[in-house]
Amino acid sequence: MSGKSVRIAHLYPELLNLYGDSGNIITLAKRLEWRGLIPEIAEVSIDDTPSFKEVDLVFIGGGSDREQRIVCEKLLAQKAELAAYVADGGVLLAVCGGYQLLGHSYLMGDEKVEGLGLVDFYTDRGDPRLIGNIAIESDLSPQPIVGYENHGGRTHLGAGVRPLGRVLFGHGNDGTTGYEGCWQDNVVGTYIHGPLLPKNPGVADALLSAALERRYGDGTLEPLDDSVELAANQVMADRLLSGEEKE
Ligand code: GLN
Repeated sequence: MSGKSVRIAHLYPELLNLYGDSGNIITLAKRLEWRGLIPEIAEVSIDDTPSFKEVDLVFIGGGSDREQRIVCEKLLAQKAELAAYVADGGVLLAVCGGYQLLGHSYLMGDEKVEGLGLVDFYTDRGDPRLIGNIAIESDLSPQPIVGYENHGGRTHLGAGVRPLGRVLFGHGNDGTTGYEGCWQDNVVGTYIHGPLLPKNPGVADALLSAALERRYGDGTLEPLDDSVELAANQVMADRLLSGEEKE
């Protein structure tokens, strides 16, 4: 495997960087390096025009409504190229505000803002904001996926869209359906901020494996010693699932 690289585009880190979302990039880079693979990370700033032609994994973090709007305008201009990347099996991870951008539309105040329409869902708003720690179960990860959510948006998936998982603790897409996120082809959208990849190594490796498979036709990853990551995951999952923490 040695010598192989994964080209990661981190979109607009100066705007979309809530609750430690940028730590996901560090996790991806480290998990590649620990295996002798090469992370090639491009930070795409709002003044750059992103190209998705030579990219293996795209990451979009969360942000405020205002920052999200700036990013949305920029990405709409690249919609066809991003759609082609996704149709070609390109790996895309989007968190919260970034996740909302993948759907048909979201609400900023009362204004309906057009999204990228890459996945069949839309986002409206509700009161109160859905805030707190979250745990879900998902086929993407052998452990519960744990993290933190804070969103006013309520995301409504189209009938054919697979959610990322089922909420075990917390709110997820809309606080009522019990579903969280979306997972379509190699696109993962989620409201789970913060330690998403640091505390959920299974998710990180699923994304890296899909990126390597698409680029090199072999997504095999050497196992790593994840004892620290899994201990962190378990402490949080135990706390949320034991009833020790109240919703
Ligand atoms: N602005 C969006 C909302 O509140 C997303 C916020 C976020 O990324 N945490 O719904």
